[in-house]
Amino acid sequence: MAKSYVHEARRRVGPKRQRIRPVIERLAAEHQDAAIALKFRSELELLVSVMLSAQTTDVNVNRVTEHLFQKYHRPEDYLAVPQEELERDIYATGFFRQKAKSLRGTMRMLLEEFDGEVPTRLEELIRLPGVARKTANVVSAELGEPQGIVVDTHVRRLSQRLRFTRQEDPVKIERDLVRLVPRADWGRFPHLMIWHGRRVCDARRPRCEDCVVNDLCPSSRV
Ligand code: SF4
Repeated sequence: MAKSYVHEARRRVGPKRQRIRPVIERLAAEHQDAAIALKFRSELELLVSVMLSAQTTDVNVNRVTEHLFQKYHRPEDYLAVPQEELERDIYATGFFRQKAKSLRGTMRMLLEEFDGEVPTRLEELIRLPGVARKTANVVSAELGEPQGIVVDTHVRRLSQRLRFTRQEDPVKIERDLVRLVPRADWGRFPHLMIWHGRRVCDARRPRCEDCVVNDLCPSSRV
């Protein structure tokens, strides 16, 4: 019974290759303000903000970086203070010891290997201490050179509900998405999923009746 219902839902909406473009277009029209919520003015500030955003909210990071970025401008500045001082300055983002260690390691490598500049290539970004694939994907996308698709909790949930993937593991989900999403949309796709996830397709109570892609979604309840 459940199986035939799923089958029927898939038949109703059509194959994902036909749905992906209209889904992106409609969500882009609906969430025109969908963009990264972190506040930054330079590539270095972007990298620091994304590194600090692990396990906390963007609002919280912005609150901390508002002061942090008045004090730390260049990679050298993060190395000029004792580690404990940097820990205090980022304390409110949580996991402050590990984050301070990663920040200092990253700044050291930026100076030693990248002339103090933030690299844009994913392979280079993931070499920086404490920079995982998700962080690297966010940074390279914001720098205008997305080389993958950011998969966070919203991207994962919505991609599964829209049946763009059946995978659970973020790396496998990303692999499915890069095959499906047009390359020109790799940067904005996660933002659209994130904002739609926050505003409409809630984890517990999706508001399918108000969803602009409900006729394209096999999980729609309307
Ligand atoms: S129809 Fe419902 S489940 Fe599908 S994307 Fe919209 S809100 Fe989410």
